[in-house]
Amino acid sequence: MSSKTLMTFLQNGISELKRNGLYNEIDPLEGPNGPIIMIRGVKRINLSSNNYLGLATDDRLIAAAVKATEKYGAGSGAVRTINGTFDLHVRLEEKLAEFKHTEAAIAYQSGFNCNMAAISAVMDQHDAILSDELNHASIIDGCRLSRAKIIRYRHSDIEDLRAKAEEATRSGGYGKIMVITDGVFSMDGDIAKLPEIQEIAEIFDLITYVDDAHGSGVLGDGAGTVKHFGLSDRIDFQMGTLSKAIGVAGGYVAGRRDLIDWLKVRSRPFLFSTSLPPAAIGACIEAIGILKRSTELQDRLWANGDYLKQGLIKLGYNVGASETPITPCIIGDEVLTQMFSKRLMEEGVYAKAIVFPTVPKGTGRIRNMPTAAHTTDMLNEALAAYERVGCEMSLI
Ligand code: PMP
Repeated sequence: MSSKTLMTFLQNGISELKRNGLYNEIDPLEGPNGPIIMIRGVKRINLSSNNYLGLATDDRLIAAAVKATEKYGAGSGAVRTINGTFDLHVRLEEKLAEFKHTEAAIAYQSGFNCNMAAISAVMDQHDAILSDELNHASIIDGCRLSRAKIIRYRHSDIEDLRAKAEEATRSGGYGKIMVITDGVFSMDGDIAKLPEIQEIAEIFDLITYVDDAHGSGVLGDGAGTVKHFGLSDRIDFQMGTLSKAIGVAGGYVAGRRDLIDWLKVRSRPFLFSTSLPPAAIGACIEAIGILKRSTELQDRLWANGDYLKQGLIKLGYNVGASETPITPCIIGDEVLTQMFSKRLMEEGVYAKAIVFPTVPKGTGRIRNMPTAAHTTDMLNEALAAYERVGCEMSLI
């Protein structure tokens, strides 16, 4: 029999989440995660995936995954440091370093465990981390795991960062101090002020860490936010994911060779968790090649992002501070946001509600993620649904 304490905890917790519109229902897809998805037998326009460039369903990636599987098998069989490193892993890391304009790179099984791994491999209880208040959950967890003192600064507030960096340095109580930020903020689509952050880092000798999960493949000719600002040889950690624009799965850090050498001997998911499977690596290598050869997909992504954003603004929606294709429609109230998303779904548009704790309370939103694979007709159809539902619910 289950513990009574556990049952009470679970049942009360779930009821409360449901009452407050915070319980996330999962809708399984019955096919690929492209611009049109199938849910419960019905096709819907998809505005909720991170598959920015449409590569998750690209035939070239699928062929590369099959070829790698045929040569190396379905799984890698071990952690990287035992015998789970194929020459394919090494090639991926070389390609990532080249792509990010750094000396070296290390690949992990996901972006989430990459942040957990890399932050805690370098920072410890004697250190401090200056962290943007809107940083991703995996950064927050990585910081917590390191046991360093976490000092949050106001979102993209350079003066607040400067004051806190000065205070942390002046106290003299810390060994190392790191500043850590998303490159592109995933819930608002705004870009971190990296040149200003780098300037502060140089004054106070801060270690710099940029999580570019949403900037890679999107900004800086595809190489990301750091390249966009011309800082490739200045930022210490260029972290990224292989799960969004690259279209597959995995995470990485690109940086100086000695940093990568250190992560290879000190980051726990590299040492203790089975490495990326061949199919994923083969597909990632193919995707990086496609990005390096042309910016065609990136250009299409931006054109689609601008088209949708202008359409939503014209309808009267609040798209917040978005500067990239990530386009939120900020609704506010959590229950209303969930209802709005549900009505859009009934109208053939899959645009998921994002509510607390993913975003602060009272800032519930629909986060629209147009991709390079959407057609203008699809975007027009989505905008028409936004108009119908917005009018019906008196939101516009
Ligand atoms: N960092 C950021 C900013 C993210 O948005 C995400 C994914 N939502 C991650 C890290 C984690 O990446 P992954 O999904 O590859 O684990």
